[in-house]
Amino acid sequence: TQDDLIDLSQLEDSVNRMPLCMQALHYKLKETHHLRHQARLQLGLFLKGCGLSMDESLKFWRMEFEKNGVTSDKFEKEYAYSIRHHYGKEGKRKNLSPYGCMNIINRRPGPGEFHGCPYREFGEERLLGLLRTNGLPEGVSREIAQKSKESHFQLACALTLKHQHGSENASSPEHELTFIEHPNEYFIVAGRMER
Ligand code: SF4
Repeated sequence: TQDDLIDLSQLEDSVNRMPLCMQALHYKLKETHHLRHQARLQLGLFLKGCGLSMDESLKFWRMEFEKNGVTSDKFEKEYAYSIRHHYGKEGKRKNLSPYGCMNIINRRPGPGEFHGCPYREFGEERLLGLLRTNGLPEGVSREIAQKSKESHFQLACALTLKHQHGSENASSPEHELTFIEHPNEYFIVAGRMER
């Protein structure tokens, strides 16, 4: 995780630095203005790890859920508590850590759920579509899809990182990264590669 705080507009400007597991949830949230519990945990803790403060996080979720007709009152009662909980301000006051890749990969989504690792959960066409949206060349995308099919999810993710953010400075140490262990690591490295 990183220590610097970011605000909501900085966050929206850096969606392309998120790994696909978070991009997919962010996209779903913007589209439907709703996410179920496991997805809120996966994305919410990641955002915390990116440096989004609790207040900004509350604003973020409230804004989206309101678009879906959730009143302030209902938001407070049903959702705000768990967001504060992520930040260790409620319940047992345990400060929860963002999930690592193994955890995300092993939490398989049921029907109507969208959490999990897209390299594992998405069919080939859907994965290729998301890679295309991120501007990856077709050949590379097919290589990534193939790695995913062979269950090398974290390798596939590292390939995406390298090809999306790394064409310049091809000799930087970040390019040696061949395996992603944590989505927040991905986010930080993508930011570094863009500099
Ligand atoms: Fe997210 Fe990790 Fe899967 Fe990459 S490998 S999409 S960071 S869970």
